[in-house]
Amino acid sequence: MAKLPRAVTELVNNLERLPGIGPKSATRLAFYLLTTPEEYVAGLADSIVKIKSQVKICQKCWSVAEDDICEICQDKARDKNLICVVERVIDMVALENVGGYNGVYHVLGGAINPLEHVGPEDLKIGELIDRIRDEDTEIILATNSTMEGEATALYIKKKLENLNSKSQIKITRIGSGLPIGADLEYADQATLARAMEGRREI
Ligand SMILES: [Zn+2]
Repeated sequence: MAKLPRAVTELVNNLERLPGIGPKSATRLAFYLLTTPEEYVAGLADSIVKIKSQVKICQKCWSVAEDDICEICQDKARDKNLICVVERVIDMVALENVGGYNGVYHVLGGAINPLEHVGPEDLKIGELIDRIRDEDTEIILATNSTMEGEATALYIKKKLENLNSKSQIKITRIGSGLPIGADLEYADQATLARAMEGRREI
């Protein structure tokens, strides 16, 4: 690359670390920002900083929140005994965008993946069990239909089955409309809606 001012190279390097951004896109973005009005760039920088300082993690469902408990968990109209278990917040966002779901969520923070040294203890599985121990609940396992997502769903199912609890727990898995190996976040809305409707007891 031609010798560029250090500030430009630094920005290009930082942008390149973002998912889906290669060196070409990073360079294009950096030069776009360079020629964009200062207010926009300042606003963008400010929102990036805010995402770290002002976004909290919901202490119930482990999604993102402005307070200690997120809006969905606080919503009285939501059925607290219907919990949809997802790997990441982005999966929850995908399901929320479909609309029509009236329960709450539980964000695991990933999936069991031995190759990347992610075990059950690294995920919010214990927290999920604590949530349902004393409540009759339907758990919808909406982990991705990847190998890791399936293994995680199976692990949770076994854990819940062995739970010595007086409460009734119904465990369902989202329908098979989702392509095998796919992440929820990339599924189109119609497929996601079908997958939720077609959930079956496991
Ligand atoms: Zn929450």
